[in-house]
Amino acid sequence: MEESPSVSPPPEPGVGLEPLDHLRGVAGLRLGIMGGAFDPIHLGHLRTAEEAREQFALDEVVFIPTGRPPHKARALSPAEARYLMATLATASNPHFWVSRIEIDRPGLDYTVDTMVQIRGMLRADAHLFFVTGADAVLDILTWKEPERLLEICTLIAATRPGYGLDRLRQVLDGLPYAEKVLVMEIPALAISSSLIRLRAAEGRGMRYLVPDGVAAFAEKAALYRETDAVDE
Ligand code: ATP
Ligand code: MG
Repeated sequence: MEESPSVSPPPEPGVGLEPLDHLRGVAGLRLGIMGGAFDPIHLGHLRTAEEAREQFALDEVVFIPTGRPPHKARALSPAEARYLMATLATASNPHFWVSRIEIDRPGLDYTVDTMVQIRGMLRADAHLFFVTGADAVLDILTWKEPERLLEICTLIAATRPGYGLDRLRQVLDGLPYAEKVLVMEIPALAISSSLIRLRAAEGRGMRYLVPDGVAAFAEKAALYRETDAVDE
């Protein structure tokens, strides 16, 4: 005989991990979104997200590993490996989450589409902040529909070695949506995923550049041993 449904059924196995589903009903949510390849996620990403959370009083930060980025030439590590590393890296921070929305969506991942999707999932009074390094902000202005992106969210641009905020301010100066870009000074970490891949391909370690769990996983899965992990 079929059991009658309980009042509050437990989630299906494997269902219910999507953080954006859990944030749907939160009134006045201040949500940080950190998008990237995260191949691998490193301490630069994590410190940037934490600084944004502190400096702009964000309630939560959701990391969104890209599935199929339109702008990356190099073949990325498998999406599941990048998702797992992001989960390992963020597990100890109660305000950090990882979303599968780009990984699970077919087609190329344009940031503007992702932000439209998230906007549609959340209450109208939610405030979205897209957190990026200064290098990525300069790119974003050349991406698909930058005006639309900046209508939906505020950009938080973090300092990053080699990408001066002065240059960014110059580019932004005079643009109609300049006030939607907030500049954030942080203790800059000269860490990048490409540097980590390059070093790993040379047999060098990632310890203290990425969280311990990420280093252990990447080594176990032999993600970056081959030189094809290195940019052209
Ligand atoms: P790659 O070298 O492969 O491009 P990456 O280190 O730049 O990797 P991405 O996944 O491309 O990492 O970056 C995701 C986001 O994190 C981007 O907005 C990028 O600007 C930002 N970011 C990456 N590293 C840092 C860092 N050390 N400090 C501040 N922001 C960073
Ligand atoms: Mg990058």
